[in-house]
Amino acid sequence: MSQSSDAFEEQEYALATLAIRTGHDRTHEGEHSEPIFLTSSFVCESAADAEAKFSGKIEGNTYSRYTNPTVHTFEKRLAKLDGAERAIATSSGMAAIHAMCMAFLKAGDHVVCSRAVFGSIISLFEKYVMKFAVEVTFVDLEDIDAWKNAVRPNTRLLFIETPSNPLAQVGDMQAIADIAHAQGALFAVDNCFCTPILQQPIKYGADLVLYSATKYIDGQGRALGGAVVGSHKLLEEVNGVIRTLGNSMSPFNAWIFLKGLETLNIRMKAHCENAQKLAEWLEQHDNVEKVYYAGLPNHPRHALAKSQQKGFGGVVSFVVKNGRKGAWHVIDSTKFLSITSNLGDVKSTITHPATTSHGRMSDEAKQAAGIAEGLIRVSVGLEDIDDIIYDLKRGLDQL
Ligand SMILES: *Cc1c(COP(=O)(O)O)cnc(C)c1O
Repeated sequence: MSQSSDAFEEQEYALATLAIRTGHDRTHEGEHSEPIFLTSSFVCESAADAEAKFSGKIEGNTYSRYTNPTVHTFEKRLAKLDGAERAIATSSGMAAIHAMCMAFLKAGDHVVCSRAVFGSIISLFEKYVMKFAVEVTFVDLEDIDAWKNAVRPNTRLLFIETPSNPLAQVGDMQAIADIAHAQGALFAVDNCFCTPILQQPIKYGADLVLYSATKYIDGQGRALGGAVVGSHKLLEEVNGVIRTLGNSMSPFNAWIFLKGLETLNIRMKAHCENAQKLAEWLEQHDNVEKVYYAGLPNHPRHALAKSQQKGFGGVVSFVVKNGRKGAWHVIDSTKFLSITSNLGDVKSTITHPATTSHGRMSDEAKQAAGIAEGLIRVSVGLEDIDDIIYDLKRGLDQL
């Protein structure tokens, strides 16, 4: 049996196997764990070899802004998990989204974007992309008619995140993909919350899948990174942007994310299990007014989430009694949950969206977006679920 990464072209392997085994071509040293190629440049055999590599006549590493073997191993492994032809790694999740914009948008184009996307993405479109004469329309993720009506002849990109943060809205990927493709536009999905373990957007018509590797792919809150995933044809454009702009992933971070991928399958299942238990517990607590988690059977999009996802993810949001005062009391009464806006970590984190991630929105905008003063978001980690519940119960019982 061949032990090169090509062995994985021959047979359908399960995600758990691919996440651990693909992408690495062992070097002549026979290393077992993937090596970190912490080198900015690569040495050529001769002047002619350098000429051939720089002109693209032969493949080979020249400079780590262009290619790096550790980064490439991560890219190959992530692409396999998504069922995609190719992935390009970036220095952060935002760098991936920026690269997508640079690769596919030009002056005169129009974008339709879900209102319920990561806050910095709204800023990227409103403050920066729009400067280059690209128009952006924001619509409700779940309102299919709004998507249809927003599309124009010059629409080039439709962009969503599903499930959304912090309110767990669920977008119908195939329906939005069909609207995009009828117009000849691209459909891109930010899959940060599910990772390919729980959801493979390409199966539902996505042309591009975006990641912040900073979250679940790392899983232990250590490094910033991201990726764009898709076809060879589209990713060649993204590759051109990344190698020119220089927002490429560092080999050290790529190695951390490779190690993250190795445990992703088992971690995502454990996150889902803990989150489900927490959501169910919160739902029956007298001082909780509402719980946002698609794993609850009474969630309005439970059936759709179940059909697109293999699990409901690790993020649970809920509204407590007494508005901001109540929410802050619950947060300040915790003893080990980390008060930080990061998520996807084995450590549970807790945040008050109305005064942090969404703090710059006007009161009216917050109200329209459903960001209540009593809203708390927990990224449910992998501590014992009874301990997580107890840490929240302390403050909740006193409201
Ligand atoms: C964090 C996040 C991003 C941005 O990623 P960075 O790695 O912080 O740049 C994009 N999308 C979603 C859904 C995120 O949670």
